[in-house]
Amino acid sequence: MKLHEYQAKAILRQAGLPVPKGEVVFKGEEVAAGLAKLGMNSGVAKAQAYTGGRGKAGGIKLFKTAEEALALTKQLLGMTLVTKQTGPEGVKIEAVLLEEASDIKRELYVAVTLDRAKANIVFILSPEGGMDIEDVAEKTPEKILKLYPAWGRNIDASLAAQGAKFLGLEGEQAKAFADVLEKLYRIYQEKDCTLLEINPLVVNGAGALSLLDCKFNIDENAVYRQKDTGGDENAEKDPSEIEASKYGLSYIKLDGDIGCMVNGAGLAMATMDTIAYYGAQPANFLDVGGSASEEAVTKAFEIISSDKNVKAILVNIFGGIMPCDRIARGVVGAVKTTGLKVPLVVRLEGTNVKEGKEVIEQSGLNLISALDLDDGAKKAAQLVKTGAGKGAN
Ligand code: GDP
Ligand code: MG
Repeated sequence: MKLHEYQAKAILRQAGLPVPKGEVVFKGEEVAAGLAKLGMNSGVAKAQAYTGGRGKAGGIKLFKTAEEALALTKQLLGMTLVTKQTGPEGVKIEAVLLEEASDIKRELYVAVTLDRAKANIVFILSPEGGMDIEDVAEKTPEKILKLYPAWGRNIDASLAAQGAKFLGLEGEQAKAFADVLEKLYRIYQEKDCTLLEINPLVVNGAGALSLLDCKFNIDENAVYRQKDTGGDENAEKDPSEIEASKYGLSYIKLDGDIGCMVNGAGLAMATMDTIAYYGAQPANFLDVGGSASEEAVTKAFEIISSDKNVKAILVNIFGGIMPCDRIARGVVGAVKTTGLKVPLVVRLEGTNVKEGKEVIEQSGLNLISALDLDDGAKKAAQLVKTGAGKGAN
């Protein structure tokens, strides 16, 4: 789950971190009241979107008067922001953060995230803030420092001192920086973050630190206890993934052209591997799990079929808790209502397999049956490779 900059900054501010004052607006009519609350007529209007690179894409504008603030906000609210991260389709802007302008002397970079290989939280620091950190890492890796705090709520003073030195911060600034690190570390843990990134952390004209931009990502598994952060659980999910989750199904969109309906994550992995072994790639996989109803199976099949990239479908079920005949009835039901636009390979094994095969035989539908996983994957791969399913959808 991701938070918008304005939501993230509210959390930072509440923790006592130095954040420029600002007001979020969702409509042009709210601009006057927002400015009045801030007591200013000049500042920055920032498009709110779950992407970096907004500055370069024209999503951040300075204004000098209230009229300009209104005109720029309206412009931003109507725009689709296209950045490296969003891809060509871009993202629609629905909120604008009006903020006091900052007098920037230096732009630094600070992030807290998890280093999985080291099984430790890591601070990533760079004196080259304001830029794409991936570019800095690639071109000038010596300008990046990783620090590993000990587990716990507090960080060691020497660790903060080492970071401050690397960033060229001394005296009061080094002290302020230690406080920033300490608070970010606590927020990262309390809010179940996977990433808390401040880019840039600025040194302003008065020599004080200020957190100018923030990326705030929360662990999907902790969403249930972080709802009051205001984050959007479905942000950036594929619409089909959202639809599938309503039925308790797990749907993952991939890049290939074989749609896969399976039960269980292990079988999903094995199915994808076997498809790849035969030289093809899955377009998606939909895990119906062990307890999906016939209706959910029908829905699952509809979701797979609606994927434009799917040129053949492989249903690979090893019935354990899930009986094969329920899968068969769900699939047959879906095909009868929506039609079958691409070849369908079905492999059923396990609980109620005989009943399942009967349902398929009696349906009169033109399905290709497979003996086992290997046979099913091979047949599906051949179908897309020979182009039998091409352009059918
Ligand atoms: P991002 O492009 O999405 O990462 O958005 P940021 O909030 O990080 O802003 C991008 C850049 O715009 C910053 O690195 C600054 O250089 C500049 N910027 C943002 N706010 C201000 C401001 O108040 N004053 C000035 N002078 N520059 C700003
Ligand atoms: Mg930024």
